[in-house]
Amino acid sequence: MILILDNKITQKQKDNITSVLSHDGCITREIIDAGRTVIGIIANNKKSLEEYRQMEGVKDAQAIKTSYKLVSREFKSEDSMVKIGNVVVGGDRIVVIAGPCAIENPTQAMTIAKEVKKYGAALFRGGAFKPRSSPYSFQGLEEEGLKILADVREETGLGVVTEITSPAQAELMEKYVDAVQIGARNMQNFELLKCVGKMSKPVVLKRGLASTIQEWLMSAEYIMAGGNNDVILCERGIRTFEPYTRNTLDLSAIPVLKQLTHLPIVIDPSHATGIREKVSPMARAAVAAGADALMIEVHNDPDNALSDGPQSLYPEQFGQLTRDLYVIAPVVGKQMDFDYLKKSEVISELAKGAAKTAAFIGENGAYSHKASLSYFGDDVTPVPMESFRDIFNACEKGSVEYGIVPVENSLSGSIHENFDLLQEYDLKIIGEVTIRIKHALIAHGTMDKKAIKKILASPPAFSQCKNFLDQCPGVEAVPVKAYSSAVKHIKDTSDTTTAAIGTAMEADIYNLKVIEDSIEDNPRNYTRFAIIAKEYKGIKKVGKSSIIFSTGNKPGALYAVMKVFSQHGINLVKLESRPILGKPWEYMFYADLEADILSDALSPMMADLKKKTEILRILGRY
Ligand code: PEP
Ligand code: MN
Repeated sequence: MILILDNKITQKQKDNITSVLSHDGCITREIIDAGRTVIGIIANNKKSLEEYRQMEGVKDAQAIKTSYKLVSREFKSEDSMVKIGNVVVGGDRIVVIAGPCAIENPTQAMTIAKEVKKYGAALFRGGAFKPRSSPYSFQGLEEEGLKILADVREETGLGVVTEITSPAQAELMEKYVDAVQIGARNMQNFELLKCVGKMSKPVVLKRGLASTIQEWLMSAEYIMAGGNNDVILCERGIRTFEPYTRNTLDLSAIPVLKQLTHLPIVIDPSHATGIREKVSPMARAAVAAGADALMIEVHNDPDNALSDGPQSLYPEQFGQLTRDLYVIAPVVGKQMDFDYLKKSEVISELAKGAAKTAAFIGENGAYSHKASLSYFGDDVTPVPMESFRDIFNACEKGSVEYGIVPVENSLSGSIHENFDLLQEYDLKIIGEVTIRIKHALIAHGTMDKKAIKKILASPPAFSQCKNFLDQCPGVEAVPVKAYSSAVKHIKDTSDTTTAAIGTAMEADIYNLKVIEDSIEDNPRNYTRFAIIAKEYKGIKKVGKSSIIFSTGNKPGALYAVMKVFSQHGINLVKLESRPILGKPWEYMFYADLEADILSDALSPMMADLKKKTEILRILGRY
């Protein structure tokens, strides 16, 4: 059962609830979910829903119908994000965990780690304690293998994941690795589950060879009940009557789990198929089906691998796969970000110290909120604001550390207001993130699509869903203010003839139903956001710079500036003109360059650039 507390609850009311629950001997857990404080009563409940609803400070009480509690969606409606090192599993980015089945020696591990990193893996895997079917097969290098894993992390920056096969290894695991894996054969080893439940490391819990989803989730519950919330579920194929593959990959587990649990899902097509050629097709399908992460076995010399060679990809095959994932991920609203490892270091630096905040425009669940989560994960708290200027002001005054503002949409072009504000304020672009804009039709759960009489949405959402609306004759389109949530508007009415256009995240937050997803006319709808701050912080390697400049009003002036870039071999990825405020018919140019404009190597270019421009300002390096 869960108790949803009133947002205006007093401390006295809350103390009273806590003392009643503790007097009754209830086992409880408190979380913040979708902006609400929720107390889950996990065991020993003594009262009825109605009795709890009568208590002061309790807004609602709901039953959790499943036997697993903490892992259930009913307990926590928002997707969980699990951090392994600096890498977030469960956000908008597809996380690829790659490496050999077993760590064989330092050279093998380091060679493979560098290859998989080059091709976009964010985490490295490799077994040091190997549970093998035969006692005569290679059993792993044990502690020596863990030390090699730690060296790999040291040298490559990749977080490392390895299997724990006995509670006796817990201390070593704490010392050397970033996450532990419970292997398929140990999914119901309850002593091991209780042990990792007390560990400080995230746990990748593989599905047992012949386990139901219900049994798997109960095993995850053991870990969470022990106090470790960082659980990732890994489907690695189940045993069926089919002998052509090593196991049968249960891809339908992904949508099933997404409904039942908030935990992130990783798919392991290597153990699922057992055959190299079958790995990439299943990996691609897994991402299309909504997996958060993949675990792929890769070996530089699979013919001589000590374990699972036939299912290991060659590094180049792995590279081809990540390129395909890059194309597939946006279809399901995710991204394969080849720069993620570098960014994740910067982001963890940005989040260091006292709690940090990032201002975004709109309400919870809006695209800008999603962009903030996509960039910062849950390390930085997003703060809603009503206008872009409010965001710039808040950043300048220091009431928030960061701002996140849209600068460009793939269909409608630049968001000029923000370019003007970037010009006006002395703030810096320190990062960028691109997300897919995917509109959903949302309504109360009981509503029938045919009954819709009105649809609420912001004006841009209407214009982006024109084809869909054309197919709903007789339905009235009612605009809401540009940055308010149409979904929130319908939340508090019991009107079952009005729907709203919004994000699936808003549907989650307001406990409403997505009636139809992806109703935008063009699925290639992306928005790029800039992360702004007062100072550059945590940024060690800069790949891109944004500048504004003006030139003299004479023939060839812009050409002269372009020539400087060309002579120094600099790739320009954006160039746009914008009127200078208060000077009709005079223009500033915005440019994005693929280079660190302040690097020593480019100081001659900067000198040239200063000569050829009248105004030159660096807006950001990221
Ligand atoms: C492994 O990941 O190498 C492994 C042994 O996996 P599973 O437990 O899924 O068989
Ligand atoms: Mn293996």
